[in-house]
Amino acid sequence: MFGRGAPKKSNNTRYYEILGVPKTASQDDLKKAYRKAAIKNHPDKGGDPEKFKEVAQAYEVLSDPEKREIYDQHGEDALKEGMGSGPGGHDPFDIFQSFFGNSPFGPSNTSSRGRRQRKGEDVVHPLKVSLEDLYNGTSKKLSLSRNKLCIKCKGKGSKSGASMTCGSCQGSGMKVSIRHLGPSMIQQMQHPCNDCKGTGEAISDKDRCPTCKGEKVTPEKKLIEVHVEKGMQNGQKITFPGEADEAPDTVTGDIVFVLQQKEHPKFKRKGDDLFFEHTLSLTEALCGFQFILTHLDNRQLLIKSQPGEVVKADSFKAINDEGMPMYQRPFMKGKLYIHFTVEFPESLSPEQCKMLETVLPPKPLMQMTDMELDECEETTLHDVNIEEEMRRKQHQQRSQEAYDEDDEMPGGAQRVQCAQQ
Ligand SMILES: [Zn+2]
Ligand SMILES: [Zn+2]
Repeated sequence: MFGRGAPKKSNNTRYYEILGVPKTASQDDLKKAYRKAAIKNHPDKGGDPEKFKEVAQAYEVLSDPEKREIYDQHGEDALKEGMGSGPGGHDPFDIFQSFFGNSPFGPSNTSSRGRRQRKGEDVVHPLKVSLEDLYNGTSKKLSLSRNKLCIKCKGKGSKSGASMTCGSCQGSGMKVSIRHLGPSMIQQMQHPCNDCKGTGEAISDKDRCPTCKGEKVTPEKKLIEVHVEKGMQNGQKITFPGEADEAPDTVTGDIVFVLQQKEHPKFKRKGDDLFFEHTLSLTEALCGFQFILTHLDNRQLLIKSQPGEVVKADSFKAINDEGMPMYQRPFMKGKLYIHFTVEFPESLSPEQCKMLETVLPPKPLMQMTDMELDECEETTLHDVNIEEEMRRKQHQQRSQEAYDEDDEMPGGAQRVQCAQQ
């Protein structure tokens, strides 16, 4: 592995490399480079979210003159931990990985002599699916573009198949620079060679492959059919091994689709079970009900109560084997739970009450003498939105606590500082 024997160091070139600008770049150059990189890596346009985040982070630091100064002198870790942290930080291999991670032109782990294949990055795509898709299974055709090794030059980049050693780095793919951090501190920096993009090779202009222009890879549109199997879960991965970007001396990474289930308006899923909300009128709850439930495969289920059965408010009932099919055992299914809400009438007239009292269980007998009643205090019940009130009270309590903590700040801060030393 490269970087052998190199001292631990703080890296202060990576952000420039991410944006593809020299360390001398002006604010204008930075802005232009940022805009280009942001568009290229935007997740909405199929870019890698991680890469996009890196680009944004790099620009955030370099566009701020003060932060840029700190970064230039002390590297990334100084910005993370505040000033005064000594040299330390990333293993050089990490820097290398994060710099070249997604690049199809990334170098092998070793110099061009005695090269070893490295593993290419996996490309991860979210794949939106409906609950119906997961219940019934489906397949989705997707068109993706990727880099393929140039057929014309077989990934050599040159017509003759020959390559010269990069003069800039003598074929090592890496360059070393020495930086003086202070009177007694010297930092040895190792970074990929800009001229050959870390490959250690150079191709003469005359010998450049006309098809890939020396890039060794060409873009390709590829149609992929993703089979979503019955019972698959939200977040489950479907992998196409070795279908990601090809690059020379690289074991091609995988394309990975991550299922993202869209919310369903009627059904909720929990593991292999389904939950369905249903509201009954009070009459239905007391005297029986039936209704048709359209399932995720459009079957019509007749749901009905037993004769004489009363359904209580906020109760659950279940139907066996009408939940989700189990992954890879689709003939087995979970349960379908129905949650019943009962709608009560807003008010009743005295006549209605009298009629109800003839059929409903009698009121508890509460004999109160006039004397007893005289000694009671009258009260008024009024309506409340209990959740709303509890939320408000919790909020009040929290701001009171925050206020109390503020008071203790000096002591509290002291303790944190001590613990860090
Ligand atoms: Zn080079
Ligand atoms: Zn070519």
